[in-house]
Amino acid sequence: MKHFPVFIAVEGRRIVVSGGGDAAVAKLRLLLKTEAKISVFATDALPLIQQWAQEGKLTLHPRAMEPGDAMCAVLFYAANEDEAEDARVAALAHRDGARVNIVDNLADSQFITPAIVDRDPVTVAIGTEGAAPVLARAIKRDLEERLPATLGPLARIGKAFRNVVEALPMGRARRDFWSEYYFKTGPQIIDENGIEAVPEALDNLLTTHLSAPEKEGAVDLVGAGPGDPDLLTLKARKALDAADVVIHDRLVTPEILELARREALVIDAGKEGFGKAMAQNDINALIVEHAQSGAHVVRLKAGDPTVFGRLDEEIEACEAADVTWRIIPGITAASAAVAGIGQSLTKRQRNASVQLLTGHDMKGFADHDWRTLAAQGEVAAIYMGKRSARFIQGRLMMHGADPATPVTFVENASRPDQRIVATTLAEMAEALSDASLIGPALTLYGLAPRAAMTALQEIQEKEFA
Ligand code: SAH
Repeated sequence: MKHFPVFIAVEGRRIVVSGGGDAAVAKLRLLLKTEAKISVFATDALPLIQQWAQEGKLTLHPRAMEPGDAMCAVLFYAANEDEAEDARVAALAHRDGARVNIVDNLADSQFITPAIVDRDPVTVAIGTEGAAPVLARAIKRDLEERLPATLGPLARIGKAFRNVVEALPMGRARRDFWSEYYFKTGPQIIDENGIEAVPEALDNLLTTHLSAPEKEGAVDLVGAGPGDPDLLTLKARKALDAADVVIHDRLVTPEILELARREALVIDAGKEGFGKAMAQNDINALIVEHAQSGAHVVRLKAGDPTVFGRLDEEIEACEAADVTWRIIPGITAASAAVAGIGQSLTKRQRNASVQLLTGHDMKGFADHDWRTLAAQGEVAAIYMGKRSARFIQGRLMMHGADPATPVTFVENASRPDQRIVATTLAEMAEALSDASLIGPALTLYGLAPRAAMTALQEIQEKEFA
């Protein structure tokens, strides 16, 4: 972040604009939404600015800026659309101690103005550090559609009501109350009976909530997918949005954790002092403990929680403690990995079944039915297979698998740093150590990247070489 977003108090303070053309008008349109005192310095102001001056919305000085004109101003805009004049007035404003923005000159500006969604008192500011104004506008449009126009009035009435709501216990109870007010009761009452009816409805809603029995906690066992936040299910997103506590694995990406409700307590179960992973029993206990205290717990697991995730132990712990639970499935690494190489996991006349294997189990390298796997056309998705690559290779060769059988490693599937290493059974161990993969990787046995994809990759590699 090169710019830190803040909201500056401008009520009754001075904001000064130098310039009277289109650029000045564009900034003034925004500034006029505030309760600041606005002064404009322009020798030749557009009629609209003169009209605003006549209506008393701003003070217009029909002359060029002079030293002292930006004295006591919180913000200053150089909007002359003339480089030399902008530099001159910016220097004056600096000397007067104002924070300076030069329109269309990011490098010399001390602050930049975001795209704004105005549901006063709710304001959303969108910034792209000047990199992508088109993107900012698209996000703004999206938010404008999503935030009802009634949000502003509702927030104002709600604010006046905050003290009374303190009668509800802190945390979940209060949050549920406000959530129902903003997203259900509030808009509904405005629709049916108008804004005047809102305060009374708010009173009634509080009475209902005060007499409601205390909520019970629950556990969502949620698949976080392979890492790309866009590959989360809508259900998973909703669960994250509502979570009081999020307990996640080491493999869950920061981009996904960002989506957890801001007030949620986020616990990394993949870590403990000295870099050791938390023991499964401790994780089970943690889940249960939070749920019993009434929290909505999201147990966030990489990929699909039902695939090599020790899910059953967590479910059993919930059952033993009489805690409600449900599973929200996710996209497993195998699905993301084959998507990354343009292949199917199963294919007519090639393989009618596919095995999901683990390279590791409690005893070390895991043993499997190697003879079946060694047959022509078999496909397996091997999880946690990096360290056991040489072992797997040896077992399959020993049972007569064709050394030319394709093997593909997909590291960081679905993420921007995804890497694909295409090799054969004969060379897999060597190829793997040459590639030195650091991130999580899936071994696809019996599958090569689709030819067109390989060609594309070669072109890209050449371009970057
Ligand atoms: N429940 C998870 C698997 C957990 S086991 C799932 O359904 O995907 C952990 C193993 O999953 C890792 O060792 C790796 O083999 C695989 N894995 C998880 N995320 C991955 C990713 N983004 N890319 C490649 N492999 C991944």
